[in-house]
Amino acid sequence: MALSEKYNLSELTNQMEKLVFDELEHQLAAISDEDICKCNDCILDISCYALNNLTPRYRSSLMGSLYAKVEDLEVNKKVKMNVTRAIQKISQNPLCGNIR
Ligand SMILES: [Zn+2]
Repeated sequence: MALSEKYNLSELTNQMEKLVFDELEHQLAAISDEDICKCNDCILDISCYALNNLTPRYRSSLMGSLYAKVEDLEVNKKVKMNVTRAIQKISQNPLCGNIR
């Protein structure tokens, strides 16, 4: 029997995703639509680029609240930096070809 049939693995979440999405939303709001492409493909590419350069923070929902606040400041700094870098990197060479 597959592990995913025996156990409910959907309770597992990477909290880094939420941090990256929140920061990305924040930074995108400050950039004009005319300056970078904000199509679905580019937003996914930006998210992948940022997330692949950050250490994942997996939690089971049961344990989530126990660890969520640890390292917050340092982690937030890294998230900000990597989201900025991801936006620059992808928008300069978007796979969708929509260069501004
Ligand atoms: Zn695009």
